[in-house]
Amino acid sequence: MGFEKTLSILKPDATERNVTGEINAMLESAGFRIIAQKKIRITLKQAEKFYGIHEGKPFFDDLCVFLSSDSIVVQVLEKENAIMDYRKIMGATNPAIAEEGTIRQKFARSIDQNTVHGSDSAETADTEIRFFFSDMEILG
Ligand code: ADP
Ligand code: MG
Repeated sequence: MGFEKTLSILKPDATERNVTGEINAMLESAGFRIIAQKKIRITLKQAEKFYGIHEGKPFFDDLCVFLSSDSIVVQVLEKENAIMDYRKIMGATNPAIAEEGTIRQKFARSIDQNTVHGSDSAETADTEIRFFFSDMEILG
């Protein structure tokens, strides 16, 4: 708990539909500060490295192809209890069961194209932030 940083990704289905501003408005209204941000496109190899923990699962290949299929917004969010609060506002991985008022309930098309990524623990948040950002790119 306490003041935390977490990694957020707005996935290709969000950039494609031009809803990244709407999603970030939800996050800012909920008290998250965006302390680093960039729009990039990653390669399939980079996506496979980022999602390495899921290697071998049946959805791994499609997941990596999707994440590298178009531009994404990667950003660092800061807030009290940011990691779990961001998981909460994202909603369940499967949007069919995501709670009302969550990002995935509002925007996700399917479990494959579910609009947002968020770190799931303090350890993964640190690793995932470092995957995309140098210290110089993150506001102190
Ligand atoms: P989350 O993104 O909620 O942390 P996971 O880390 O379990 O979920 O999975 C990473 C991503 O892989 C999910 O966001 C989703 O897009 C995809 N995924 C997970 N489980 C499945 C599944 N059963 N079928 C298809 N895609 C899945
Ligand atoms: Mg996850």
